[in-house]
This record gives sequence, structure tokens and C-alpha cells, in this order.
Amino acid sequence: MRRVYFDHNATTPVDPEVLDAMLPYFSVEFGNASSIHAFGQQTRGAVERARQSVAALLGAQASEITFTSGGTESDNLAILGIVGELRGGEKKHVITTQIEHSAALSSCHALAKRGMDVTFLPIGRSGVIDPRDVRMAIRPTTVFITVMHANNEIGTLQPLEEIGRIAADADVWFHTDAVQSAGKIPVDVNRLGVDLLSLSAHKIYGPKGVGALYVRKGTHLEPVLYGGHHERDRRPGTENVPGIVGLGRAAEIAREKLSSDGERVSRLRDRFENGVLAAVADARVNGAGAPRVPNTSNIMFPGVASESLLIALDLKGLACSSGSACSSGAVTPSHVLTAVGLCAAEARSSLRFSLGRHTTDSDVDFALSVLPGEVARLRAISPETKRAPVVP
Ligand code: PLP
Repeated sequence: MRRVYFDHNATTPVDPEVLDAMLPYFSVEFGNASSIHAFGQQTRGAVERARQSVAALLGAQASEITFTSGGTESDNLAILGIVGELRGGEKKHVITTQIEHSAALSSCHALAKRGMDVTFLPIGRSGVIDPRDVRMAIRPTTVFITVMHANNEIGTLQPLEEIGRIAADADVWFHTDAVQSAGKIPVDVNRLGVDLLSLSAHKIYGPKGVGALYVRKGTHLEPVLYGGHHERDRRPGTENVPGIVGLGRAAEIAREKLSSDGERVSRLRDRFENGVLAAVADARVNGAGAPRVPNTSNIMFPGVASESLLIALDLKGLACSSGSACSSGAVTPSHVLTAVGLCAAEARSSLRFSLGRHTTDSDVDFALSVLPGEVARLRAISPETKRAPVVP
């Protein structure tokens, strides 16, 4: 049976070149990168080359890159680390948005529990924050702003350059979660004006369980884990050398292919979206009209439960994702979709399709050949949305 994968925002396959680069570091090149002897020096060299590759993708210096276990840890380290550094001071206020990934959102909730004041800025229907709202939210006690770059569910891009200027004017630290933008569109830490930036290898054809945090020179962070003196005392623990090497190679490939991949994928995404809108009555693209990453399309199909459509499409061979989360039997519509103004029923009728480097015209044709029929079939038999599944 043919299977087409339209869920690249959940994860991507490891590029064969990335895998080749990693393999020796599981066996032959096994030394601990902190060891003094030749075995250790070999792997230390590989870790430092990977650091340079990640830095080059972001327009940063190698010394500003800290390796972590992924996007979640990078977000935690940025948000809890910067505020931990200032504990006990006057600065007690943090600004974020309602559409952040749970890694950032939950870290901000953790800060609130520890007594910080946190402003969760609302986002309008456009899916893009108004920088003036950020400026107005700043108080004399504000210490930190965290606003994601590309939203993982609807793909909208936030105006980081303007927010970066606002943060700099107010002398406030600025972090962005660039897990869904780095490697898909140009990301330059100086142009964006960020002090901290999170990324993850498995979203850019690298391995799972490894990521990085860019920390601008002069930015002080308190670690969230305690142990040895690895990663400039920012992140203890023996380095995941194969993972780090994989992230480095993935970053190099992403940099080489940035503009060709971006143009190709956005053409395919637009063809897919236009095809769906032409074939499915009342379908609507969530976040359309706003600047978006090239690969993401979140579409609402009124009258259809996203859970049912997701399963029906999977049975036909098309893998995508729903924006709803389900915990202990209670169905909560996506916090992103409700934050951008969709009612619960609309949010529960929306699916995310995320294309990737290996998506072809034939994959788009396949998706367009199954989707309209399944929507029509489900509309005929199940007009109401009741439940929705877990999304990674
Ligand atoms: N931030 C965003 C925007 C994401 O999309 C994800 C993953 O879905 C993460 C953070 C978490 O990254 P990781 O899976 O590497 O922990």
C-alpha cells in the first residue's frame, strides 16, 4: 500500500548522509569527548566541528552554541535558566504568547508557580502577534520575552525583528523557539535580534534526542541540570557525540539546501492547499494570509471531526496530524487554534499537513486524490466532532 507522509512538523526521517556521518561515533570513534587522550580528542574534534556547523546555520559564533537533548530542553534551559540567574532581584516579569509550544508554555507556567509574573499575550485571527502588544506589555520589572518563530501547528511566522528591537530598547532578554523555522527559512540571530534561540535536530532530518540552544555572548544562564563542567557549565552530562555529529551534518545540509528546498516545498504546499480549497466546499486554511514557513498547511473542514478524518486518511495511506490533544479522556481543542480565534468545534475540525524535503508532486496528487472523497464521506455520516487524538 502506498503511504505518503505529510507530518514533517512532528518529525523527519534521518538523512542518509547524516546517518553515515553519525555511524562511526557509535563504535570506532567512541571516546568520551571530555577525555584527554587521543580517543577523547578525536570525538572532541567532531563535537566542535558540529558546533561550527550549527553556528553557521544561525549566523552565530561556535562558542555561543550549547548542545542539549532537543527543543524541549533548549526551551527549558533558556526560560528557566535566564530567570534563575536573576532570582531574588527586582525583575519579576516575563512576556510570552498564548501560541507557544508546550515546552515554552509549560516552562512559563513553572515560572508563574515560582512567583514570577507572566503575561501570556493573545494572538488575533491572523496568527501573528502585534509587536505593539509586546511593547505595551513591557513593565519596569520585565526581564525576559519569549516568542516562538514559526508556529508548529499553523506555520505562521512571528515578527521577531521588530520584537527584537523592542526588547533591545527596553534592555530585556529575548528568546525564540526556532524549532520549526531553523533549517526551513533563513534564521540569523543578529538580524532577528535574539539573545537565545532553540532548535532541534529531528525536525531537520537529524536524529531525535539532540538539539541546541544559541546563547548570545555575555548572556548569563543558570543551568537547569547539575553535574560536570560540560558545555561551558551550561549543560552537564557526557556529550551525545553521535547525536551532536548528526545535528551538525543536518545543519550543513539544511544550509546548503535552504533556498532550493524552501521554494520547492512552498510550491508543493500551495498546490496542495489550492487543490483542497477547490475540491472541498467550505474548507479554510488556518493562518492563511500571514507569512508562514513553506511546508505547513493547517486546514479546517467544517462538519468533520478531525480525529475521524485523520484515521480515515491514515487508512488510505496519508499521514497527517490533528491539532487537538486528549488527556485522560477529556478532549481539549488545540490551544493554538483557539488562541487564533477558532471556536472549539472549528478547532476540532482542523488538520495539519506538513510537507518535507522528499515530498513530490506525485505525493501531492495522491493526497488530493484521497482527501476530498474522505471529507465528503465523513460529512455524510458524521457531521459532529466529538473526540480527537493525541498529537506528537
Ligand atoms: N518547539 C516546537 C515549536 C516544536 O514543534 C517542538 C516539537 O514538536 C519542540 C519545541 C520540542 O522539540 P523536541 O521534540 O526536540 O523536544
